[in-house]
Amino acid sequence: MKVPLLDLKRQYQTIKPELDAAILNVMAHTQFILGPEVKQFEEKAAAFCGTKHAIGVASGTDALLLALRVCGVGPGDEVITSTFSFFASAGVVSRLGAVPVFADVAPKTFNVTAEQIAKKVTSKTKAIMPVHLYGQTADMDPIMELANSKRIPVVEDAAQAIGAKYKGRKAGTIGRFGCFSFFPSKNLGGLGDGGMVTCNSDGDAELVRKLRVHGSKPKYYHSLVGYNSRLDTLQAAALSVKLKYLESWTEGRRKKASRYNQLLAGLPVEIPFEPEYNHHIYHQYTIAAPKRDDLRKFLTEREIGTEIYYPLPLHEQECYASLGYKKGSLPVAEKRAGEVLSLPVFPELAEGEQDFVAASIREFYRD
Ligand SMILES: *Cc1c(COP(=O)(O)O)cnc(C)c1O
Repeated sequence: MKVPLLDLKRQYQTIKPELDAAILNVMAHTQFILGPEVKQFEEKAAAFCGTKHAIGVASGTDALLLALRVCGVGPGDEVITSTFSFFASAGVVSRLGAVPVFADVAPKTFNVTAEQIAKKVTSKTKAIMPVHLYGQTADMDPIMELANSKRIPVVEDAAQAIGAKYKGRKAGTIGRFGCFSFFPSKNLGGLGDGGMVTCNSDGDAELVRKLRVHGSKPKYYHSLVGYNSRLDTLQAAALSVKLKYLESWTEGRRKKASRYNQLLAGLPVEIPFEPEYNHHIYHQYTIAAPKRDDLRKFLTEREIGTEIYYPLPLHEQECYASLGYKKGSLPVAEKRAGEVLSLPVFPELAEGEQDFVAASIREFYRD
């Protein structure tokens, strides 16, 4: 049985008439750049997140970039982030001429902690960027306490965590900025690249809006050097359709996750740990597995899709060799990178498929 890691065709089939109509409508009105659907989506997304503002941008990467720009990050500054993340979390810091400073993660949640961040704070720290990995937030109260005591702004990388909750609060609404990605494989995925910045300050929102149009307001008058980073009207139209289903899709993912928890019980793999104060949206269902690479090979032979997020922590990436991190300097992430394996989890995944995945894992450890 072939079980894909993710199958977006199944999602499309459930919303095809509505999605097609939304796209055709944009093609007919032709306002492709910042058309009415962008503002409509931003309003719905702000209401969904519970923030005053949501600003559509070209990607999750750009969301981080623009948020850090507004925090004043530039050459000579440092930004502390998780070493166990997608590269964008660090790349944006470098692109602003600043230095990414990597902190280790908690072994059970894979998320960066206040304790690890505290070790890295210096007089140059200009922002703290926790990453809400796999769909659940970092433990934000201690992080906010630390950041507030040092007057350092917090930018949440919530790219994988739209709709996740921390003590009842939505991911991306706790720090000064929340940054989201609509990369097609994210829980709210567009038909290409897209992203969003959330915030509660009118001034911050105004600046992000200005930066996404080359730093101009009014048009052709540039008070700053900005970027070309708008959310396409076509993407906004598609995302508005999909946003209506996000809560039910999340429930579907959570059901699959709890089913995996039962099916994998008693095996030598660690199932995801969800602290009681978190509401996990299971962007990924990630286990920690002994003999991970052999297990992955075994599942691949059975045509079961899996992925490793992420095989090499950011402080060990070749492009950051000059930062001088030694092997063993962030030991939890280094160890976990050799153990994590993400299994197929998406709302349309069939029970029979899930049973096959679990039975195959069971078979691997029996041999
Ligand atoms: C996807 C992702 C991003 C980048 O988003 P893009 O839309 O692909 O630019 C940033 N951070 C994390 C943690 C991500 O998973």
